[in-house]
Amino acid sequence: MNLHQSEGLAGVMTQAGYTLVDRIESADVILFNGCMVRQKAEEKLYGRIGSVMEQKRKHHVTLGVGGCLGQVHGESLLVRFPAIDFVFGSTGHEFVPSLVTRVEGEATRLTELGDQAMIDEIPYARRSAMRAMVTITEGCSNFCSYCIVPYARGRMRSRAPELIFREVEEAIGDGAREILLLGQNVNAYGADRRGVGDFAWLLDRVAESGAPRVRFTTSHPRDMTDAVLDVMASRRNVCNHLHLPAQSGCDRILVEMNRGYTLDRYLSIIAAARARIEGINLTTDLIVGYPGETEADFAETMNLIENVRFGSIFVAKYSPRPLTRSARVEDDVPESTKAARLERVLTRQRRIALEENERFVDRDVEVLFESAAREGGHLGRAGDHRTVVARGGAIGELAAVRIEGASSAGLSGSVLIREGVEGRR
Ligand code: SAM
Ligand code: SF4
Repeated sequence: MNLHQSEGLAGVMTQAGYTLVDRIESADVILFNGCMVRQKAEEKLYGRIGSVMEQKRKHHVTLGVGGCLGQVHGESLLVRFPAIDFVFGSTGHEFVPSLVTRVEGEATRLTELGDQAMIDEIPYARRSAMRAMVTITEGCSNFCSYCIVPYARGRMRSRAPELIFREVEEAIGDGAREILLLGQNVNAYGADRRGVGDFAWLLDRVAESGAPRVRFTTSHPRDMTDAVLDVMASRRNVCNHLHLPAQSGCDRILVEMNRGYTLDRYLSIIAAARARIEGINLTTDLIVGYPGETEADFAETMNLIENVRFGSIFVAKYSPRPLTRSARVEDDVPESTKAARLERVLTRQRRIALEENERFVDRDVEVLFESAAREGGHLGRAGDHRTVVARGGAIGELAAVRIEGASSAGLSGSVLIREGVEGRR
């Protein structure tokens, strides 16, 4: 979501006459679109602000800091970091060029946060010609106990379907091969708008647009429906990948997290997805060391990993976030325990991913190439989101690849047939 909003910031700045540069040292204006989800992300950005301070000593640079970080901390960032010229929020990005003009023209510093009931309708300077990210919802109304998103981005609002369809069509017209529908909880699409279909309806309509590939993220287990799985099963261009964050495998922790589902419910979605969608790749997000997580609670998360055999996992150590409910209870799992649990998840997952990936050796998969690979050839993704490095290929090309090798990180092989491969698997 942040990556896409940065494409929007680049879009509005380009429209206002600015040019993107490759190196931060060559920039006259620097914008940081800051993430607040984890403490580490926040600290990383503070480090970057420090480097810009050095740059500012050598020549004039205008620095704007915003996104979720600006929305949550607001004015206080100006006090804490003299290098910052203006603070912007998680919306209202169309006004960022005028903020630059104002701080430069009036030699002032300011904070201007957007309206959290809005979704920005701005031009996007897409980083990838082959993949178009398209926002379908902004914000989130779920209030998971640990999560800052509802405060940083506001409550969930669904974008008007006609705006979504128009953007999808334009992106396809511009050459996009893959549409990635974005929202914090895509399955809740439409719940806040009268007379609009639900996510299954939207996904089906977007699939109808003829994009070679359609993906979506993120799904929430509480709002996942069989109808969405049916669309995934019936539309060949909807990729056979489902990212379904579990966060924990322990019912007691799931209640504490306010996630709104049980382990049983989670597993029943997995079973329904596997029954309907051939070769579906399931991936997830996990948090280790949530307040009060005992060794026995964590063992249930390890069991979940073992039982489901995810294709890949994003795992993070819990960090308390301002404004959230869990920040009011003691962060009582020691850092060393969190680190050890994280390592145990990663070690187990690497073994599972390797075993799952090895099953693809000598099989052919369809790959959409995204970039040149460091080791030569091209890097892309299979329909099920597995990373593939192949000899041959070209950026933006869909090709069949004969898989010759596997590691815990992905697959490798050689391009077999160029273009025109039927289907997604
Ligand atoms: N909306 C998605 C969902 O419901 O899973 C995910 C959005 S969240 C921005 C991305 C991931 O960050 C979450 O799935 C969670 O694993 C992680 N996360 C959020 N808050 C966190 C925290 N306080 N500490 C550690 N990880 C956190
Ligand atoms: Fe955060 Fe929960 Fe909303 Fe995801 S669903 S963005 S974890 S509050």
